[in-house]
Amino acid sequence: MSKNYVTGFARIGEQRELKKVLEEFWAKKVPFSEVEKVASELKQRHWNYQNDAGIEYISSNDFSLYDNMLDTSIMLGAIPQRFQELKNEELYFTMARGNEFCVAMEMTKWFNTNYHYIVPELTCNDNYTLNATKIINEYKEAKALGIKTKINLIGPLTYLGLSKRVDGGDSYEFTNKIVDIYVQFLQEITKLDDEVTIQIDEPIFVKDLDVKILSLIKPTYDRLASISTNLKLIVMTYFEHSCETTKILVHTPIWGIGLDFIHGEENLNSLELISYKNKTVIAGVVDGRNIWKNNYIDTLELLDKIGSIIPNEKLLIASSCSLLHVPFTLQYEEKMDIEIKSWLSYGVEKLDELSLLSNIYFKGLESLNTKDKILFSQNIEVNKARSLSSKIHNQAVLQRVQNISKLQRDGTYEERIKLQKDILQYQDLATTTIGSFPQTSEVREARSAYKKSLISKERYEQEMKNYIDECVAFQEEIGLEVLVHGEPERNDMVEYFGEQLEGYAFSQNGWVQSYGSRCVKPPFIYGDISRPKSMTVDWITYAQSKTELIMKAMLTGPVTILNWSFVRDDKPRSEVAEQIALAINDEVNDLQNAGIKIIQVDEAAFKEGYPLRTEKIKAYEKWAVDNFRLSVSSAKKETQIHTHMCYSEFNDIIKTIEAMDADVISIETARSGNELLKIFKEVGYKQEVGPGVYDIHSPRVPSVEEIVKQIEKLLEVLPKEQLWINPDCGLKTRKWEEVKPSLKNMVQAVTIVREKLKKD
Ligand code: GLN
Ligand code: ZN
Repeated sequence: MSKNYVTGFARIGEQRELKKVLEEFWAKKVPFSEVEKVASELKQRHWNYQNDAGIEYISSNDFSLYDNMLDTSIMLGAIPQRFQELKNEELYFTMARGNEFCVAMEMTKWFNTNYHYIVPELTCNDNYTLNATKIINEYKEAKALGIKTKINLIGPLTYLGLSKRVDGGDSYEFTNKIVDIYVQFLQEITKLDDEVTIQIDEPIFVKDLDVKILSLIKPTYDRLASISTNLKLIVMTYFEHSCETTKILVHTPIWGIGLDFIHGEENLNSLELISYKNKTVIAGVVDGRNIWKNNYIDTLELLDKIGSIIPNEKLLIASSCSLLHVPFTLQYEEKMDIEIKSWLSYGVEKLDELSLLSNIYFKGLESLNTKDKILFSQNIEVNKARSLSSKIHNQAVLQRVQNISKLQRDGTYEERIKLQKDILQYQDLATTTIGSFPQTSEVREARSAYKKSLISKERYEQEMKNYIDECVAFQEEIGLEVLVHGEPERNDMVEYFGEQLEGYAFSQNGWVQSYGSRCVKPPFIYGDISRPKSMTVDWITYAQSKTELIMKAMLTGPVTILNWSFVRDDKPRSEVAEQIALAINDEVNDLQNAGIKIIQVDEAAFKEGYPLRTEKIKAYEKWAVDNFRLSVSSAKKETQIHTHMCYSEFNDIIKTIEAMDADVISIETARSGNELLKIFKEVGYKQEVGPGVYDIHSPRVPSVEEIVKQIEKLLEVLPKEQLWINPDCGLKTRKWEEVKPSLKNMVQAVTIVREKLKKD
C-alpha cells in the first residue's frame, strides 16, 4: 500500500488530443464515435500514468468531455426546458455551447481558478432523475484494465451553491430533491464492488458559509454516508481551509476528509478533532495550482506536523486539488532553459512526487531503494540551487523596492482632472474604445511568421504599422475622439509584457484547460522582475505621429499580469506585484516623456485575485490597490490615467476601485442597463466612468437608437461631465464587419444625445 492519493487528473491530453477531436466533431469532420475513441484512449493513458507512478487512489469520473458540473447536471437530470427535445451528445454539447434555437447555459469561473464550469439552471418545475451511466461505465472501464478507482463526484451542496434558480428563489430549497438522487446513485454504486470509495467534492466548504447552509451539512452527510457499509465516503475540499465545515463533518459517518494544506494552512487546527473522531485525513501537500517542484524537506516537515496528530493508518498524502489546474507533462518542453526547467513539476511529475513522498513518510528514508534515494537528494539539491540561482535574484530590483519613496501620483483628483481637461479639451460624453481592434488573420500570420523568423523584423514592423495606419484612419473617419493604436503586435495582454520583462519564462506545451476545449498557456514568473527597455513606446509614438487627435497608450496593470501568470512560490505575491508595478511605472514615465497624454493601465483580472475568504480580502485589496497606484505614480498631474475592468459588479468593491484613483475607468455594464452603475452614484464616486454602451461579446451590431437609449439611461445615473462613451471591452475577437458599423452607430448616437442635451 502506498497511501498516496490524486484528487483528480487533467483530461485534455498531453497534446490536447481531446481539444482537437472535439473541435473536429463540432465542425462535423468526424463522427461522435471518434470522440469516444479518443476519450477512452486518454482515460486509459491517464490511469496508466498514475498506476505506473505507484498511486494508490486513482479517480474515475474525473474525466469529462466538457465539464464536470455539466456532467453532474446530466447525472441529476437537471436539464433546462429549452433542451428537452435533445438527446445524448447533442443534448450535452448544446447545453454547453448552444445552437441556432437555444442559447447556451451560462459559464463562470470555478472558485479562484481560471477553469470555467457550466452553471446549472434550476426551477421548481424540475423533475430530477438519476442517470449514472457515464460514471458506472468509467468505473468499469478502469476496472477492466485492472485499476480499481475511487469515483469522483461533485457534492450536492457545492452543486446547489453554484447553480442559479431561473425562477427566482434559493437553490438550496431543492436540497432534499437533489440529495434523493445522490442517495439513489450511491445505492446503485454499492452494487459495483465489495467496497467502493467515493470522493465527493465540496469546495464550497472553503467559503464563508451562512448558518442556513452550514445547517444542511450534517443531515446531508448523515444520509449519504449511511447508505451502505461497503461505501467509503470522502468529502474533499480545496483552495482554502474548511475549518468550520470540518467541525460538522466529523460528526457524520463519512470515512475521510480531504484538506488543502497548501492554500489553507489553517486546516492544521482541525486535526485534533478529526483524530478524536477517527476519520481519515487526505492531506493535500503537493500543490495542484502551481508548477514548481515540491520541496521535500518542507513537505516532510509539514507532514510531521500533521502526523503528530493523525496516525499513519488514518493519513493519505495527496495533491492539494485536481491536477487539472496545472499543465500535463514537462516531457515536451524542449526549448525551455534547462536550469529553469529543472525547477518545475507539471501534472505527471507531481505523480512521482506524491509517490516518493509517501514512500519516505510511511516507510522511512532508510528503506528507500537506490533510485528513490537519488531522487530525494536531487530534489534537495535542485531546490537549493534554485534558491541560490543568479537567475532569480536581481540586486538592483531589490534595492529599488527597498527605496520606493513615491507611492502615488501628485495632486488630488480634482486638481488633476482640471489640468487634464484644459489640455485635452475633450467634450462631455467623449468617445473612445478599450484598446484592441480586430485581430485579422493577416495580423496573426505576420506575428507568427516573425516569431518563427520566417519574415524580417522590418517586414513585420511594416505590416503592423500598416495596420495601425488603417486603425487610425478609420477612427478619424468615423469621428472618435480619443484614439487607440489597435494592439496588433499583441497576442495576449499579459504575454506581450511578460515576453519583454526579465524574470518571466514561457512554456511550449504548458496548456491548462480553461473551459470546454479551450486551453490557456500562462507564462510564469520565476525571478525578480525588471524591464530592460521600453515595451510599447515605439508603437504608440508611431500611432500618435499619424494623428492630430489624442492617442491613448495601452498597458496591462501589475495585478492582472500577476493573476494571469504562474507565480514564483518563494516570495509573497504582493512583493512580486510590486516589482511588476515598478516596471510598469517606468513604462508610464517613458510614454509621457514621449508626449503621450493619456495612458490606460488595464486591470482586467483585478477581481479574479480576490481571496475566497472574507477575512483575507482586506489584505489583498490593500496590496492590489497600492501596487496599481505605484504603477502609475510616475504620471504627471497632466497625464490622464485610465483603467479598464472586465466586469460590471462593483457593489462590493466600489471603495477599493475608487481608491485606485484612476482618472477614468471603463467597465462592462452594457448588458445590465444602468442598474449596476447606480452604486457609483450611491457612494458619490468622483472620477470619470465609461460604462460600456454595447456588448462586444456578441456579433450583433447595435442600432443608433439602441445606443441613444443606453446613453440616456446612463445619464439618469451620472452627469454628462462624468461619462465617457465606449464599447464594453476590447474588440480583438470581433470582425471588422461588426466593429465598423457598431462604432459608427456609437459615435452617431453620441452626436444625437449631445444635440438633445443642448436643446434641453
Ligand atoms: N486593452 C485590452 C483590449 O482592448 C483590454 C482587454 C481586456 O480587458 N480583456 O484588448
Ligand atoms: Zn474588458
